[in-house]
Order: sequence, then C-alpha cells, then structure tokens
Amino acid sequence: NKSVIFLNHPTGFPVVGQDFAVQSRELEVNLQPNDVLVKNLYISLDPYMRGRMSSHKSYVAGFEIGKPMLASGVSEVIESKNASFPVGTIVTGFVGWEEYSVISGAQDLRPLPDARNSKIPLSSYVGVLGMPGLTAYSSLKVIGQPKAGETIFISAASGAVGQLVGQIAKRQGLRVVGSAGSDDKVEYLLKELKFDAAFNYKTGSILESLKKHIPEGIDIYYENVGGETLEAVLEVMNTNGRIIACGMISQYNATSPYGVKNLMQFVSKRLMMRGFIVFDFAEECSADFAKDVGTWLVKGEIIYKEDVAEGIDSAPDAFIGMLKGKNFGKQVVKIADL
Ligand code: NDP
Repeated sequence: NKSVIFLNHPTGFPVVGQDFAVQSRELEVNLQPNDVLVKNLYISLDPYMRGRMSSHKSYVAGFEIGKPMLASGVSEVIESKNASFPVGTIVTGFVGWEEYSVISGAQDLRPLPDARNSKIPLSSYVGVLGMPGLTAYSSLKVIGQPKAGETIFISAASGAVGQLVGQIAKRQGLRVVGSAGSDDKVEYLLKELKFDAAFNYKTGSILESLKKHIPEGIDIYYENVGGETLEAVLEVMNTNGRIIACGMISQYNATSPYGVKNLMQFVSKRLMMRGFIVFDFAEECSADFAKDVGTWLVKGEIIYKEDVAEGIDSAPDAFIGMLKGKNFGKQVVKIADL
C-alpha cells in the first residue's frame, strides 16, 4: 500500500523527502465490526492542508508525524464489516493519501448512491460538489449577501473555490472581476467563465489593475490570498463593502507575514470583513447547495475545471505545485479507476 507519510513540520514551502514522502507499507487488514476497507479513487489536495503540516494549533488537528496525510476522497468499499456500506459502495469522506485505507467504524463516510452511473465525474464529489463547492456557495450567500448590480472582485479566481464563486455571482446579476496568476488562467476567466474583467496579478501593479478594471469600486471582495492584494483592494472598496475572508494563501508558506498598512480604510468606509470555516454554514446551506449546484452542473449551466495528477506518486509534487499556483483548476489526484 503506497502512502504519502508526513515526516516533518515544514518551514516555508514543504520539501518532498524531508517533510513528506511516498512510502510502501504492508497493508494490514484486520477489520473489526463496522470497519471498512476502501480503495481510494480520487483524493483532494487543498491549501488548508499546509496548516495541518504546521505545529501551530488551529481549527483542525495537525497531521501526525509518521502517519499518512489525510484528505477528503472518493473511494470504493472493497471489504466490509458494516451493513450500511456493503462492498461496491462508492463513498466520500476522510481517507489517507494512499491507495487503500481502513476506515475504523466507517467514521464520517457518506455513501454516494448515484455516483456509479452518474454523468458527473467522480472527482466532482471532492470539488464542485464537495468541500470547495460548499465553501463558495455558502460564504457568498451568508457573508456576501450579493445583490444584482453590485461588483464582486475574486482573487485566486480560477481555482477550486474562486471559479464557482464567480459563476454563481454572474447568475445573480453581479459584475464579476477576478485575478489569477497566469495569462492562461485570465483567458479562462474571460472566455469560459464569462467574467466581466480579469487580470494577471503577477504582471503589473495590483492597485493599478483594480483601478483600471473596477472604476466603480468593489462592493464584495472574495478574499482567497491576503497580503498585497488585500491591501490594494481596501483602497478601492466602496462604502459599506463586505469582505468574505475565505483564505490567505499568500501567507501560508511565508516566513515573514505581510503587514497590511491601510486598515484605517475599514473605519472610513464602514467595511465588514468576516472569516469562516466551511463547516460553519454546512447545516444552513448543504441541502440548497447540493440541489442548486448539482442541477446547474447537470444542465451545463456552470462548468468546473479540474487539474488531475495521476497516481499516488504524483501527490507530493502536485500539492507543492498547488501552493505555488501550478494547478489550473481544482487540484485532485487520481489514484485508481473504479
Ligand atoms: P486554488 O484551487 O485556488 O489553488 C490555490 C491557488 O492560490 C493557486 O492556484 C494560486 O493561483 C493561488 N496562489 C498561490 N500562492 C499565491 C500568492 N502568493 N498570491 C496569490 N495567489 C496565490 O485553491 P482553493 O480554491 O482550494 O482555495 C482558495 C482559498 O480558499 C485558499 O486561501 C484556501 O485556504 C481557502 N479555503 C478556505 C476554506 C474555508 O473553509 N474558509 C475552504 C476551502 C478553501 P494563481 O495562479 O491565481 O496565483
């Protein structure tokens, strides 16, 4: 059983071989009542995992040194002592970054009864129909409270969360502007996702780009990156603007944090900034999310780009690549075919 084992708390960007590595270990299967053995088909690689590699206390427990790293996955039950999860059931839940996982008591697994014969790719259940999708849908609704005619600006706009935020905001009649880290990504935002404007934040002044593309000012900022982008955004926010603090990826590997210098803008412009973690709104939004996004996806009214790394061996490099912006769309790893 090949797994990605957590070895060390990284400083700066994680290093393969030093902080985590693929190792082959004997698969010990001694299922107790209610346990299942799953074959992992896809795992999701997400920015928050960098926090789980840190020794700092956070809202989610750190990875254990010497153990496989954990991810949400889509898996097939191949041995079962749990009547609710017979062999052949497709499930989603937390698994190791590995080929096979024993899930004690089938803990937190959710069956996906429609997945086997669905037109929707299996990987969607950890992407647009999974955690990143719920993040986008729920926070835009609850914190953003968007209204037709307003302008939203989204950073990391072509990524797992950003691309869905933008498409939902367009459906709701907002003017949608995004930033991304390459010209290809910007073209995707404009041509495929029909953003009203987009720019590459790496090739010019972020503040000048914001002023050029959003002369009317920003009503809602969907914050994925923090740092210099946040500082520039504060200059062009409109009075009573809302900032949805989803993440600040520019800071996750930074050895010295970026000091935002213009926080006084909050006072003069009566800005509101609210952070959240995806599960905060799950109870309130999960049912509507599954219905709405599932329907839009099946009807082809929204699209969703994924970046699929092949095989468990590719997972560590794909993870580092995602933290550096090499992913184009939601980063997943395909481990096996169904
Ligand atoms: P993405 O698919 O967007 O991948 C990460 C992207 O971040 C990269 O592709 C890169 O895109 C961008 N990026 C990396 N470094 C920088 C940098 N220094 N400055 C600006 N952009 C950078 O990831 P997700 O959509 O999964 O996550 C987006 C954000 O949402 C993250 O901050 C994440 O932590 C947060 N999040 C929060 C959740 C919550 O519950 N609060 C849940 C899920 C995600 P580019 O090429 O455009 O630079």
